[in-house]
Amino acid sequence: MLRTSVPYDPVAKVIDAEARQLYFVLLAALVLLYAVLFRIVANASATLRRQADENEHQAHHDALTGLPNRTLFTEQVNDRLRRSSDRPLAVVVIDLDRFKEINDTLGHHHGDLLLIEIGQRLRATLRSTDTVARLGGDEFALLLNGVDGRAAMAMADKIAAAVETPFETEGLRLEVGASVGIAMSPDHGDDIVTLLQRADIAMYESKRSGAGCMLYDPTNDHTNRQQLALAGELRKAVSNELVVYYQPKINLGSDQVSGMEALVRWQHPEHGLIPPDEFIPLAERSGMMKDLTRVVLQQSLAQLRTWLDDGHDLHVAVNVSARGLHDAELADMIGRTLTRYEIPPERLVLEITETTIADDPEAARKVLQQLRGRGVRISIDDFGTDYSSLAVLRSLPVNELKIDRQFVSDLDYPEGAAIVEYSVQLGHMLGLTVVAEGVEAAEDATRLSSLGCNMAQGYWYARPMEAEVMDTWLTDRAQSTSGNPQVGLNSP
Ligand code: C2E
Ligand code: CA
Ligand code: CA
Repeated sequence: MLRTSVPYDPVAKVIDAEARQLYFVLLAALVLLYAVLFRIVANASATLRRQADENEHQAHHDALTGLPNRTLFTEQVNDRLRRSSDRPLAVVVIDLDRFKEINDTLGHHHGDLLLIEIGQRLRATLRSTDTVARLGGDEFALLLNGVDGRAAMAMADKIAAAVETPFETEGLRLEVGASVGIAMSPDHGDDIVTLLQRADIAMYESKRSGAGCMLYDPTNDHTNRQQLALAGELRKAVSNELVVYYQPKINLGSDQVSGMEALVRWQHPEHGLIPPDEFIPLAERSGMMKDLTRVVLQQSLAQLRTWLDDGHDLHVAVNVSARGLHDAELADMIGRTLTRYEIPPERLVLEITETTIADDPEAARKVLQQLRGRGVRISIDDFGTDYSSLAVLRSLPVNELKIDRQFVSDLDYPEGAAIVEYSVQLGHMLGLTVVAEGVEAAEDATRLSSLGCNMAQGYWYARPMEAEVMDTWLTDRAQSTSGNPQVGLNSP
């Protein structure tokens, strides 16, 4: 047996060295792993934090303008009220006028650019301690710290001027107006809900009166609150509570019924029959005119179909207001409704007031020309009440002129008679049918007839009536004048 002995020391050293190397490598790997993991975890948590921040930002800001939204605005005002309830502050609500028209006619792209620009202008007009927020749509709100009513009004005037300066976007020059309402804390309320509601009431009041900017006035509150409530109800009522009444237009030459003016009413379940003057301004303000016009057109053309089927040779006249006329889809909607009830277009007359046209003559002319192209007839309502009368008659494709009832009621005076006579002659020279409205007495009808007026309408003949009542009226009248030929569409 052979035995060798090797000294262990060198071997142990080698083992030691290798083990140490291994430890070192392991340690280095661990450190590296830790470093890598740390980075990954740090990155991941940074991303999460960023995302949370972004979500938080999105939940509190408006995506289009980057301004605080209603939620953040509410929080900020509440916060301010809690921290220093005795220091005055103003909550201001700004609603753009005519924004919907820009959006509808030029498209959302231009509407969006306009809103972004308005956001920037508001921001630039205010102090760094004030807040600008977009509440939604074309409504903005401001929180003005430490101001009294007078300072807030002065600020609001500056804001309105900033909004009303024309905009240039992509080669287009756009103009919008602003209606501004202000509520003060602590005078008008000490919580955000009340303050916003009251600033809203002041804003509606300033829109209604055309004042531009108004401070909340508690003495107006009751009627305004009712109006706001009514506007809310009207939205639901448009489709089933609107009723069209009809008032006959009489041909003065033949004494026959030529057509019917459709006059809308709101059959309110609690307040009864509400006249149009009380709810049409509400509908205009809250963008409901398009729906209202559609409902009136549907009802009155369906009714005209029935009358035509029953042998009545009539036309129907529908009132269209400013908002309706600036709606690019109006002509198509009318075309579809005429087709649906198989009504020849010349049996529909659209009554347009001059103020409607004066708002934006270019847009009005475009829509009116489209309608004329389809054969629909156009009447100028309330003729003589606006200065633009003559310019309107010259530049628009009109068929009929309705002399306003204030002149007809003045027929007994030389001035009234002169205005009526002049209007009849002017209308005839321009080849138009002339109608007098508000005829309340037999003498007026005789007088108008001798002045050459073509048609008359008024309480003397009939008050506006519901379709069924008008049916009976028509039948009775046809019987009492039987033998005379029915005269339909009038021409001068
Ligand atoms: P308007 O187009 O000038 O309508 C004539 C108004 O005079 C009607 O009032 C009618 O009832 C009233 N009237 C008729 N005959 C006489 C009379 O002999 N004497 C007097 N003093 N008044 C008479 P109503 O129905 O209250 O309508 C008021 C206004 O509301 C209308 O004035 C029209 O501008 C608007 N309106 C009515 N229906 C509609 C509609 O469907 N759409 C739009 N956009 N406006 C409408
Ligand atoms: Ca009318
Ligand atoms: Ca009228």
